Amino acid sequence: MSTLEIENLHASVAGTEILRGVDLTVSSGEVHAVMGPNGAGKSTLSAVIMGRPGYEVTDGSVTLDGVDVLALPAWQRATAGLHLVMQYPTEVPGVMLDDVLAEALTSRGRGTGDLAEVLDAEADRINFERRFLHRPLNVDLSGGEKKRNETLQLAVLHPKIAILDELDSGLDIDALRDCSRRVEDLSNEGDVGVLAITHYSRLLKELEPDHVHILVKGRIVTSGGPELAQVLESDGYAAFVPAEDLAADEPATGGLDDLFAS
Ligand code: ADP
Ligand code: MG
Repeated sequence: MSTLEIENLHASVAGTEILRGVDLTVSSGEVHAVMGPNGAGKSTLSAVIMGRPGYEVTDGSVTLDGVDVLALPAWQRATAGLHLVMQYPTEVPGVMLDDVLAEALTSRGRGTGDLAEVLDAEADRINFERRFLHRPLNVDLSGGEKKRNETLQLAVLHPKIAILDELDSGLDIDALRDCSRRVEDLSNEGDVGVLAITHYSRLLKELEPDHVHILVKGRIVTSGGPELAQVLESDGYAAFVPAEDLAADEPATGGLDDLFAS
């Protein structure tokens, strides 16, 4: 049993406060959906938990099983059991998917003897073509293939807590079903705790949230059960967000679109 505990988290980017007091607790086997309009701070939340450079935590804490996550470099957060599926998976020329996973497993003290069989089985399970397994990470893959690739990594590494930043963005309906179903299985059978960040409720068809939180302007303004996602599906964010803040429904510029932008 593991618990990710976020308390009163405040974080700034380039001097602007983006997260303004986030409280959230995710335990093994639970699925928490964090939903919010564009620019609410969803990607910032995932970046701060995982330790992406450029974010200043100004107050609050993040712990995994009591360990201060914010004091660790990103790679130690990963080996401690946190895993982030990025909204825009990065292409890494020259670095092979199977080599990355072998190194990651080794750094976690886990064996790699059966890795080839595990990779084949996981690839088949989510309809990811086996020929991509020994290819440079994400290079020349379509949006759907990239997210299947990320989902495969998540399944093989089997973290304590999985953070999904808009797993559904760039996915067609088949890939969305395959990926979200795999995450749901990881949560049910594998006891992985899931923090699923998303703008749309379509992700939450196969991946069934136990709790839904609505993030607006860097704060969770409402929490509830799965029915909250249904309210958003029919009514949108209007009931939760002042009208002037809903005007621009485009991704904010200067956000996390390009991992290497800075
Ligand atoms: P969401 O994922 O909910 O759409 P983000 O966390 O990407 O929102 O962004 C929240 C706000 O923080 C936006 O106004 C965005 O422009 C700003 N922001 C995020 N990252 C950066 C950055 N690296 N530099 C400047 N502003 C940023
Ligand atoms: Mg985002």
